[in-house]
Amino acid sequence: MGSGTVEHFEISLNTPAGRITTGIGVPTGSVPIASIVPLLRGLGEQVQALEQEQLTASGQVISCRKGCSACCRMLVPVSAPEAFALAQAFERYDEATRKALTARLEAAKQRLSEAGLWQRLTELSESHEPPSDEAIEPVNRDYYALRMACPFLENDTCLIYHDRPSACRELTVTSPAALCDNLLSPAVRPVPLSVRVSTALGLLWAELTDTVPRLIPLPLALDWARTHAEERRREWPGTTLLDKALDKIWRYISQEFQRRNSTPS
Ligand code: SF4
Repeated sequence: MGSGTVEHFEISLNTPAGRITTGIGVPTGSVPIASIVPLLRGLGEQVQALEQEQLTASGQVISCRKGCSACCRMLVPVSAPEAFALAQAFERYDEATRKALTARLEAAKQRLSEAGLWQRLTELSESHEPPSDEAIEPVNRDYYALRMACPFLENDTCLIYHDRPSACRELTVTSPAALCDNLLSPAVRPVPLSVRVSTALGLLWAELTDTVPRLIPLPLALDWARTHAEERRREWPGTTLLDKALDKIWRYISQEFQRRNSTPS
């Protein structure tokens, strides 16, 4: 999570897919929000692994395979902390990589502008209203109708794999891969999520900055992080970030318990 003195905690999470217990190190000093992103992603991935194990044990098969990139044509929502984490990762890449990725992002911007979507995506990312389904769904639909490959996708491989957003990590399906040609089809069966890390991070950022949860479309994330550079530099004690982040995770899990209990199997 960062340098300096680190306090170690053991975290136990009871999720609809089972319990995970894991040790984490948290700096006692102040750190920027991006520092908590890897920790939360790690937790999310452990919870997701449990979910997948449970499905596999019940005889279902996860269809997602390396080289399959059908879902990389959907609009990927990024929380503010993840936009900052991506900007941080970008600064670590060598110059040639940064140049190549910048050219790809420019090409995406051009295509989205021609399709009349860039402005709508910008408005979404700067909205002062909490994101609503009514506002997001038409944008999602129009974006997906383009079937535009993510600017970070090359030869069906993610160029920022280790730094990809949580939303990319969280989408897996048990329906046949051929159905992913239309991911909006009700026949597509996503693996249920006990926790959505991007949502938890979005809520955490909203609480820390007294703003609304923000949904930043991935092609805009680096621009957004640059525009909000001052917020990126703000710091909070690592333990405060952890406490607040876990609170969001627990709330999400408890809603998911309720949702599954009220959904007929
Ligand atoms: S960031 Fe990577 S995994 Fe996510 S949509 Fe883009 S190419 Fe796909």
